[in-house]
Amino acid sequence: MTDTMKAAVVTRFGAPLEIQELEIPTPGPGEALIKTLYSGVCHTDLHAAHGDWPVKPTPPFVPGHEGAGEVVAVGEGVTRLAVGDWAGNAWLWSACGACEWCETGRETLCPKAQYGGYTKNGSFGQYMLVDARFAPRIPKSVDLAAVAPILCAGVTVYKGLKVSEVKPGQWVLISGVGGLGHIAVQYAVAMGMRVVTVDVDDAKSRLARKHGAEYAFNAAVEGNGLAAKIKEVTGGGVHGALVTAVNGKAFPQAMGALRSGGTVSLVGLPPEAFPLDIFSTVLFGLTVRGSLVGTRKDMEEAIDFFARGLIKPTYTVQPLAEVNDIFDDMIAAKIDGRVVMDLQH
Ligand code: NAD
Ligand code: ZN
Ligand code: ZN
Repeated sequence: MTDTMKAAVVTRFGAPLEIQELEIPTPGPGEALIKTLYSGVCHTDLHAAHGDWPVKPTPPFVPGHEGAGEVVAVGEGVTRLAVGDWAGNAWLWSACGACEWCETGRETLCPKAQYGGYTKNGSFGQYMLVDARFAPRIPKSVDLAAVAPILCAGVTVYKGLKVSEVKPGQWVLISGVGGLGHIAVQYAVAMGMRVVTVDVDDAKSRLARKHGAEYAFNAAVEGNGLAAKIKEVTGGGVHGALVTAVNGKAFPQAMGALRSGGTVSLVGLPPEAFPLDIFSTVLFGLTVRGSLVGTRKDMEEAIDFFARGLIKPTYTVQPLAEVNDIFDDMIAAKIDGRVVMDLQH
């Protein structure tokens, strides 16, 4: 093993990432060192690099929380992972295990949680440290590049769909058919839901149909008639909605398409607010719910859906050196599905 590795580093918010030679870290007690082979690029990495959110990471840092690779060293006391295993990192890098949320199966809400690629260096580097209790374990039967997007996009939409409370046979609206949304369509279908999607680009509608959406609308074309169209094709509105769009306008739009008693799961994180119509929320008994990634158990289930061949992310592989071009394409919403970076070539 060489002593240094290549990594893409955020040196200042909004500046292009720099490819730097960094020292390969050594795993401390409870940690493992993973040789990162592939990493998905999530829109959250772009928010991180731009310092978009009220709680900010501290540059310099290495983004990335969809990293998949091989365990090459373990620290003291590690039993859950061994050298040679396949594993990844996750947004939920660790949690305390002892607070009221950790103790009640809601570890993603832990106030002491650490976040991969945000408060801990992430997977845009050739090696990364993980907390061995929280690193997702990856079965050797799967394709490592294809599984990478499951580690954030997959688990997030799977959990977001669960908390939408949509039942098999009922309608769900997926708003935003990017990295998260195109995978959401597939989990929804696998969970027995009927899918309608909204994006602002016809190419995204084609991607949605390819993965099993029965109807795919372009909000830019439908304008103010969008909610009525969705209500028409679903016989009165969707039972639930999952909003992954990175645009505040998509949120009230999704609420407008809900059936009485419906729930909207908010997952996309544009740093904006949206007006909530009090009258219709009360009269139609609507629920608005935030959903943040998933627990370790949700992750295990999401990976299991993938390993059984039910989820097939659409992705292209690009080298780490192209990270800034990938971000430019993401800003322009030109990516078809996900980009997965090859860290070693
Ligand atoms: P992405 O850039 O791949 O996809 C965003 C999609 O939204 C694109 O297809 C774009 O065309 C579409 N869009 C833009 N404006 C729209 C509009 N008005 N209506 C409908 N669609 C519209 O991004 P991604 O990686 O899928 O991430 C999406 C968001 O989810 C980001 O804000 C990210 O930070 C957030 N995220 C949240 C969690 C969580 O745990 N809650 C986890 C991962 C990502
Ligand atoms: Zn993510
Ligand atoms: Zn906790």
